[in-house]
Amino acid sequence: MRNYLKHYINGEWVESTGNETEDVINPATEEVIGKISLGTKEDLDKAVKAARDAFPSFSQTTKEERVEMLEKIAAEYERRKDDIVETITDELGSPLEISEKVHFMMGYNHFSQAAESLKEFSFKEDRGGHTRVKESIGVSGLITPWNFPTNQTSTKIASAFAAGSPVILKPAEQTPFAAIILAEIFDKVGVPKGVFNLVNGTGEVIGDGISSHPGIDFVSFTGSGATGEKIMKNASESIKKVALELGGKSPLIILDDADVEGAARASVSHIANNSGQVCSAGTRTLVPSSMKKEFEEAVKKVLSDYPVGDPREGNHIGPLVSKKQWDTVQSYIEKGIEEGANLLVGGPGKPEGLEKGYYVKPTVFTDVDNHMVIAQEEIFGPVQTIITYDSIEEALEIANDTIYGLAGYVYGNDPETLRKVASGIRAGRIKVNDTEADFSSPFGGYKQSGIGREWGDFGIEEYLEVKTVLGYPS
Ligand code: ADP
Repeated sequence: MRNYLKHYINGEWVESTGNETEDVINPATEEVIGKISLGTKEDLDKAVKAARDAFPSFSQTTKEERVEMLEKIAAEYERRKDDIVETITDELGSPLEISEKVHFMMGYNHFSQAAESLKEFSFKEDRGGHTRVKESIGVSGLITPWNFPTNQTSTKIASAFAAGSPVILKPAEQTPFAAIILAEIFDKVGVPKGVFNLVNGTGEVIGDGISSHPGIDFVSFTGSGATGEKIMKNASESIKKVALELGGKSPLIILDDADVEGAARASVSHIANNSGQVCSAGTRTLVPSSMKKEFEEAVKKVLSDYPVGDPREGNHIGPLVSKKQWDTVQSYIEKGIEEGANLLVGGPGKPEGLEKGYYVKPTVFTDVDNHMVIAQEEIFGPVQTIITYDSIEEALEIANDTIYGLAGYVYGNDPETLRKVASGIRAGRIKVNDTEADFSSPFGGYKQSGIGREWGDFGIEEYLEVKTVLGYPS
């Protein structure tokens, strides 16, 4: 049993001032695996004070000192690999191999990439008549979701540390243990007192408290649009800067010259990866009408290679994170049927033999109209939709007919068409064919997918203010 009833404030593990706790559940077994304390506004105030006290000296550290700190963190993070992998599998239900290759690695890449980006980063630039100086924004509040416990936290923390900004982190209640390991890592490598503070708790108390706290200068949030809206409203009362990474309903456009099996693999991977609990997942697959039948057959074949099951047994698709998420996904599957989309694979209920655990049948709807709810709303589960098109212009029109703009994907061969689609989709990240992720690239959304960018040098910029100095003595 992992019972973590303390918060990490000002370089120490301290008792919570609240008595309430929350159970953490393993979604594969539905068993309670531990609990956390739900912090109070008093705990948050203490963390804010610690971060404010740390600000003057941390913001004045040299870039070289912060590079060294980030490199030490990356090394210690790597040393804790087994704990991190096991923890993520237990609290999120992600298969061990994915916990290692995706979740663990993304966290590692953010710390090491932040060190690399920082080495190249320029905090002072002379422009003839004036000098531009970039300085730490102050104290940052970080609110993160459960779907990538180390990725979401590490990208924010690494960028803040690179910029010289002390932080208060509130991780998701469902997956708090990976964040506890991060606190242990920072403690071990000697991150200065007050530079990292972890306060566990609910969104309503600690999340809300962070977004409205006058002692916090900047809030970086990843999560749902509805919560993002509340955070922005709260932050407006003290004109706090916000960065929001919200939902998506990203298009995956298959071109008519694409290799059909490769395209089917790409489409299925978007609902298999992390059981579809990915904000940038390409969950509207746009296929040329002439390719529809062949593509559907290929999807069925590819999906049969992806068994669903126990994340400790090496299967590819694990359970969803919680009963709440399971219920939400089920209601979307039922909605799709009600709206008249046709089930190609999957459907409501649990897969056979998996009555325990929050497992969902990977589901692919075909004959989907882009105006259906299942094509417009983010489902956050293993549910794919297939929509047909007859010209590239029509494909782009459908692709952009969404409130979101987080990502876009294109699969095919003709370079000119690939370029046309890449520039035609209104979204923050476009991926052409099976290109690997580049951690120095900016990540973030257009439209209602958010505000701001994370990762690499763009991530660091978010935690900085720009000062203009006229007549700077050279
Ligand atoms: P989900 O519904 O998938 O959990 P949320 O956007 O509600 O997505 O959660 C993402 C993070 O936001 C979590 O850490 C959660 O505790 C936090 N949160 C939830 N409600 C609020 C709120 N009103 N203000 C600030 N943070 C919140």
